[in-house]
Amino acid sequence: MGGHYMKAAIDLGTTNSLVMIRRNGKNELVPNQFGEYSTPSIVTVTEDEVFVGEMAYAKEVLYPQSTFRLFKRDMGSNQTFGERKITAIELSAMVIKQLIKDVEAFTNERVTEVVISVPAYFTDEQRQATRKSALICGVEANRIINEPSAAALSYYQIDKKEGQFLVFDFGGGTLDATVVDIFDDIVDIVAIAGNNQLGGHDLDMIIEDAFIECHPVLANISSDSKKILRSKMEKAKIALTTFPEVSIDFKYENTNYNMKLTQQDYINKSEPILMKIRKVVAQVLRDAEIKAEDIDDVICVGGSCKSIIIQNYLEDLLNQRINLMPNPDKVVIDGLGLMVAIINREPGYGNTILTDVCPFSLGVDVIGDIYSPIISRNTTLPVSRTRHYVTINDYQRVVRFSVYQGENLVASANKLLMSGEAPVIMKKKGAASVTVTFTYDINGILDVAITGDDVKKEYHNQVVTNKIITDQEVARMMPYLKLIDKSESSNREILLESRFERLNMELMSQSQERLRDLFMTFREEKEGASKGKLIQLINKVNNQLDDLERSIFDPFVKENNRH
Ligand code: ADP
Ligand code: MG
Repeated sequence: MGGHYMKAAIDLGTTNSLVMIRRNGKNELVPNQFGEYSTPSIVTVTEDEVFVGEMAYAKEVLYPQSTFRLFKRDMGSNQTFGERKITAIELSAMVIKQLIKDVEAFTNERVTEVVISVPAYFTDEQRQATRKSALICGVEANRIINEPSAAALSYYQIDKKEGQFLVFDFGGGTLDATVVDIFDDIVDIVAIAGNNQLGGHDLDMIIEDAFIECHPVLANISSDSKKILRSKMEKAKIALTTFPEVSIDFKYENTNYNMKLTQQDYINKSEPILMKIRKVVAQVLRDAEIKAEDIDDVICVGGSCKSIIIQNYLEDLLNQRINLMPNPDKVVIDGLGLMVAIINREPGYGNTILTDVCPFSLGVDVIGDIYSPIISRNTTLPVSRTRHYVTINDYQRVVRFSVYQGENLVASANKLLMSGEAPVIMKKKGAASVTVTFTYDINGILDVAITGDDVKKEYHNQVVTNKIITDQEVARMMPYLKLIDKSESSNREILLESRFERLNMELMSQSQERLRDLFMTFREEKEGASKGKLIQLINKVNNQLDDLERSIFDPFVKENNRH
């Protein structure tokens, strides 16, 4: 490994993760070991192996109980996964580790720092969880960037258009709507709203529910079969972007189940999701105190924006054309790369300033458990705010307070961040006063200070300190991370074989024959092939499998042509 140290930008997605570096003043997307620029956020952890990305996707059929997805939704919660009780933080660490490994293989330089993006709606705790994942991998993660900020930056770089924009990021597991203001080289976040339990995954579920409604016997199938069913539903959904009608087949215990679904049916069934989208968009416009017509452009981000249904719905809702970025799923990572350029103060990037907003209110409790916000939601960061409070009892010795995050009027109904106290000079009630100062920075670190003439000993505390992981946490993860490090970097052949296995379980019997033919030919041609030839062969077979998969939903392919 070279002597250089570098920063890498990571879009740690619910469904897909990407990694970008800066080289020669340019953004450079880093391919994974299979040459793909996007790595599925899927992890398989077995007794003695750890797989991340495509490998895990392929292994899911073999190890359904040890393969995990969508864990980003559980960042910061106590939810654990599988027999080994792995947390979302640890699973994310494995993804980060894999991405870092890909960068190191690609550049021959060591990654020491990462800039990671998170949904704007992530709570403070979830942001800290994300930092933890990076720290477990032994890299610094001081900058946690909101995905829409990154997207806006990328958009601005391309269009150089100033104004007020709506960033609509609809990915696999989260929806974020953000109003950003771009003016004079400043990208300012005006308001954010979101739903971190709403994504493309829910559209898959709509189709799955319809399928099960059609074939109730499938309601209680094993979780392994459920996973195959679900990935079938996702493929059907993507096919519905291109075809007005799809025919979905699913094989279970030697019986074939089929359902035809038209785009219109699908739109009707998606109504509840569209309503939830509407709610989020309405919320962000309200918070920004603007109307739909005040928006200069709608920036569509995230894989689910490739769906015609979503595009049409947004255009109808906002009554204007939307801007489909060339690659909705690479907008965030592109902006993150630019963010690294700004942090590095590369020539030409020194002037851009990125502000952020506090996604929730921060405050203290006052008499009767009433919540008194000090920094209100959507305040531009960094910020420092001060409020004065007086004592409520005669000759009170100390002022006790709790710091909360949230929007509830009842203080204790919000999320408790910390409690503290400061001794005060004893006076009649209302006569002693204290000054509470909240300083909140762009990295989500809240500094609390209690000062004032009546305060005998000043109180200073930070909710988040830099040392947020313990040695035990790191030690527990070491064996897993080592396995990722060790994993063969030429896994392409294994991956292809697993893909065959997976397809074999997914395909209907007619296509299975074709699959078997391809597999036998592959086996034969592989014998004695040189390394270069083998890679060519693998690429060819992968293309054939792509065609085979595509034909599954193509209504114009006749059954007998599938052989
Ligand atoms: P995340 O940021 O959550 O990791 P992405 O932005 O990569 O997610 O989006 C992943 C989602 O996009 C998945 O739910 C996937 O099914 C969906 N998706 C990808 N391509 C299409 C398509 N052509 N039509 C509809 N949905 C799509
Ligand atoms: Mg995303």
